Formats: sequence, C-alpha cells, structure tokens
Amino acid sequence: MNSTRITVSLTCIECKMRNYPITKRREQKVEIKKFCKTCGKHTLHRDAK
Ligand SMILES: [Zn+2]
Repeated sequence: MNSTRITVSLTCIECKMRNYPITKRREQKVEIKKFCKTCGKHTLHRDAK
C-alpha cells in the first residue's frame, strides 16, 4: 500500500489564504475549523494541493 505522507497547506474556504502547513496521507481528506488571520474569525479550512 502506498501511504506516502505529503505536505499541504490548510486553506481558508472563505478567503483562500493558505494558513497552516500540515502533513497528511495523500488520499486523506482534511477539513478543520481554524482561526484565519485574514478573515479575523474561525473558518473552515481544507487541504489544498
Ligand atoms: Zn480566511
């Protein structure tokens, strides 16, 4: 099985800023509520390519 870990950025879905670098498995989907400095509030962040 290929479980390569890659580094991606968690991206705010509202302003599209890349806020938090993370490592994850390539096929893993990540969606977390995080504080976005640009929006000034907690927003949903997704992993970006
Ligand atoms: Zn934002």
